[in-house]
Amino acid sequence: MSNVITLNKENKEIREKIIEAGGSDVYKCYQCGKCTGVCPWYQIETVELPVCRIAQTVRLGAMLISEDKEETAKETEEVYRCVGCDACVNECPHGVSIPDIIRAIRSILVNFGSYPSTLKSPISKIHNVGNPLGEPKEKRVDWAEGLDIPIFEAGIEFLYFPGCLPAYDPRLRKVAQATAQILKKAGVSFGILGEKEWCCCEAMRRAGAEYLFQEAVKTNIDAFKSAGVKKIVTTSPHCYTTFKNDYPEFGGDFEIIHTTQIFYELIKQKKLVPQGLSGLENPSYNDKTSHSSIKRVVYHDPCTLGRQSGIYDEPREVLKSIPSIELVEIENFSREYSLCCGGGSGGLWLDWPKEERIADVRVQQAVDTGAEILAVACPYCLQMFEDSVKTVNISIEVKDISELLADSIKR
Ligand code: SF4
Ligand code: SF4
Repeated sequence: MSNVITLNKENKEIREKIIEAGGSDVYKCYQCGKCTGVCPWYQIETVELPVCRIAQTVRLGAMLISEDKEETAKETEEVYRCVGCDACVNECPHGVSIPDIIRAIRSILVNFGSYPSTLKSPISKIHNVGNPLGEPKEKRVDWAEGLDIPIFEAGIEFLYFPGCLPAYDPRLRKVAQATAQILKKAGVSFGILGEKEWCCCEAMRRAGAEYLFQEAVKTNIDAFKSAGVKKIVTTSPHCYTTFKNDYPEFGGDFEIIHTTQIFYELIKQKKLVPQGLSGLENPSYNDKTSHSSIKRVVYHDPCTLGRQSGIYDEPREVLKSIPSIELVEIENFSREYSLCCGGGSGGLWLDWPKEERIADVRVQQAVDTGAEILAVACPYCLQMFEDSVKTVNISIEVKDISELLADSIKR
């Protein structure tokens, strides 16, 4: 017989471990089930994931040296399905944060080495070289070659923090490059940290690697402070949210700005005047519909930028300022009801079967609007959606807002 035990009123040991690890909300849930219906996994027909029950029934089998290996593997899989999208947090009538409980459970599993093997590689790469791709530190600045961007020093106003994927990934480098071009065109005073920039580690904290997160926090805060940084512009909403909400707890108090916020501000100040996209005519602002050269664009709200940070309007305003764009919305799944791309909380490194990919559902929703371009404001979303577009062979272009804006100010 298995020696695993369920979390119930008698099972104080597991409950106390979860609370100790930060999941104090475990007491508050009254099992109404509202969270399950808004969880993105609910959109996947073949997956049944009653998320509210995970916290109540988790056995922490590995911790208790379970003999039931199959049950332990199933439990680990369920615990690692949560993508930290916070849709359930918004809906819960009792103020329960399931992602916080899940994070606490994961941190226990990570301490016992019982977590998905695909997460082991990015965790050890961050520890060794400061980024989940395992790229050498000295290559962190390669994306900026030829752009004449200074290393941050006293007297420069903003630190631009591209984050790991835009710094290293060949596709996502285009986002960092577009951002730099925009900031330069508008005359913004900014610099970069170069080799001293480390992964922000938001995803790894949510994946349960708390010790690694705290190592990253210390490294980044030390680098920011010794360079004299006060204001940070980030490309990734994941960097944005953790710098803003988590780093202050460790002494890192900086002004944090997402790229879409500074772009919108620069447009309002007329420091940027977007024209039509390349290859398109430049229709007047008031006569978009009569033009055949209009591009229909749908914007996907990243969970970390929308639900978690309340930034819904700035990305839309930037897109609307580009004359050749007609902005459309995904009915019922826009703004606070946006469906996650599936890449958060370590999801980027987890391989689910093809029929279980949340990103595929989201891309189909975008295609159903008739849009030609799916605009994003997050490197994770861009990577997840481009993978989907390739694998399900759907016809829609995925672009970061910075790429569209940079294109519109070329002339
Ligand atoms: S919505 Fe809140 S109270 Fe209801 S089951 Fe989910 S976590 Fe529990
Ligand atoms: S945070 Fe998102 S993925 Fe995680 S349980 Fe809540 S709704 Fe589901």
